[in-house]
Amino acid sequence: MPEIRKDPVIGRWIITSTDDSIDPKEYSYDKAEIKSSEKCPFCGKNSDMIENEILRRNYDGKWAVRFVENKFPALIENIKIDRYADGIYDKMTGHGMHEVIIDSHDHNTPFHEITPEEMEIVIAGMVERHRMLKKDRDLRYVLFFKNYGASAGASLSHSHSQLIATPVVPKIAVEELTFSEKYYKYKERCIFCDIVDQETEEEIRIIKQNDSFLSIVPFAPRFPFECWILPKEHNFSFGDMKKKDFRSLAIILKDYLKRLQIVFPGLPYNFVIHTAPFGNRYRDCYHWHIELMPRLTKIAGFEWGSGFYIIQTSPEKAAKILREAL
Ligand SMILES: [Zn+2]
Ligand SMILES: [Zn+2]
Ligand SMILES: [Zn+2]
Repeated sequence: MPEIRKDPVIGRWIITSTDDSIDPKEYSYDKAEIKSSEKCPFCGKNSDMIENEILRRNYDGKWAVRFVENKFPALIENIKIDRYADGIYDKMTGHGMHEVIIDSHDHNTPFHEITPEEMEIVIAGMVERHRMLKKDRDLRYVLFFKNYGASAGASLSHSHSQLIATPVVPKIAVEELTFSEKYYKYKERCIFCDIVDQETEEEIRIIKQNDSFLSIVPFAPRFPFECWILPKEHNFSFGDMKKKDFRSLAIILKDYLKRLQIVFPGLPYNFVIHTAPFGNRYRDCYHWHIELMPRLTKIAGFEWGSGFYIIQTSPEKAAKILREAL
């Protein structure tokens, strides 16, 4: 039976089916492939020639993560921030940062196959970079994201993530911030803490939990087998994550990606880290988290036109399949 559900954070509607979920084998997708390292700019001899390295952290005698300026940046640092109005239209100079995070030393090891120890170094680097960028008074927000596989938007097959720091707060973040602030004013509680509590109690959408994090298939996802990773303890900013939690995050992140790759070998995916903008306004009402989007389906006319999403595997069934994958 079809069921219409509402995402509790931003009120987005989705349609799912409470029975007759399709067999995971019926999904078709373009597998991510790793092309030859011959011309890869991130490894071998080429990696010695990378200019404009911002941060590098080593593990076990090799570099584990390198933050470098994007060769084709969407926004640039050395441009003075200036705002204009052109009649009813607003515009501003393209000030910001666009960095590539090379998160695997080895060309042939995708992110989900690096060790938890290496992943911990990558996470520590991201937190460090978030803290550094916070000091730039022209910047308001940092979005960390990963595209894995060509159909998820990756142009190079050597594992990498990116960060874009912007002088404005992105629309999706504004939506989450606005709704969570409203919820907080009404209930005096953080909506994400409430999600953590309810999901922990009900258990039906949990994939895995450890001492500090919970991975769930959200109640009203946009994509089948979507996952959110939430810190169990309230914290509005990714950059404020405690060092003791880096390892737990690496473990739960790798756990989900591993399960996903077992159920859907070679599946392209994206993930984004949602955090509060710089400043303390959202300290009590917002709760940082990671959203992971498997690329099993394509966004088409109905989704573009309505903002509704149709999910062929119910979140409860998806969580069960992922739980049983290992
Ligand atoms: Zn490479
Ligand atoms: Zn919270
Ligand atoms: Zn979010």
